[in-house]
Amino acid sequence: MRRKLIVGNWKMYGSHSANAELLAGIVGGRPYLADVAVCVPFPYLSETAVALAATDIRWGAQDCSAHEQGAYTGEVSAAMLQEFGCRYAIVGHSERRQYHAESDQLVADKAKAALARGVTPIVCVGETLAQREAGDTEAVVKRQLSAVIHTLAHCAGEMVVAYEPVWAIGTGRTATPEQAQAVHHLLRAQLHAATPRADAMTILYGGSVKPDNAAQLFAQADIDGGLVGGASLKAADFVAICRATT
Ligand code: PEP
Repeated sequence: MRRKLIVGNWKMYGSHSANAELLAGIVGGRPYLADVAVCVPFPYLSETAVALAATDIRWGAQDCSAHEQGAYTGEVSAAMLQEFGCRYAIVGHSERRQYHAESDQLVADKAKAALARGVTPIVCVGETLAQREAGDTEAVVKRQLSAVIHTLAHCAGEMVVAYEPVWAIGTGRTATPEQAQAVHHLLRAQLHAATPRADAMTILYGGSVKPDNAAQLFAQADIDGGLVGGASLKAADFVAICRATT
């Protein structure tokens, strides 16, 4: 039985005071049956680490450089994330693929760099609405995951995968539990062909997860929790989602 994982993606939101209130709310909602984590903007890693140090809530970043170190202005390395106690780094979020032209290979290289420093990459894959309507969902997510599987090779079983249909992110339009499960099933089958750990691996669903749809999504056989954007910014909503696991 896989343990559920709920990860909040704060995106580019936050302030010292808002973070303190949000983190206090999440800590106050314990105990959770699921593992819970927040992925925060880089400047807030330090205060998040302090606020969560004595708890079982984990934290992480929303990106990580593919490079170890060097003249890469603005980038943050996996070694730096490791120093901040990051458990996770989201890589390949659709907002980075779209606005920063991140390729499948770059995402795979970032995942490899994270793992090399003991930071678990949460690798996002997902199709756009046009790709879904063209019947290309399977081909797109398989291509995106395949790049990471090949690059991580024997370590592929150590990543977390997040299926995030682009048309469901921040739109209020959620994939139905059946639509999401169908893609998760495909992804797990692809992982089976690559690693003996496939059955133990965590595959998250992301895309307008809310307190009122979380339980149904998380009840699907291959959905092991959620990557939650907007709803992770309100403590009451995020706590409710974290509690929507059995
Ligand atoms: C996300 O940013 O990963 C996400 C899933 O956002 P939202 O929950 O707001 O759709």
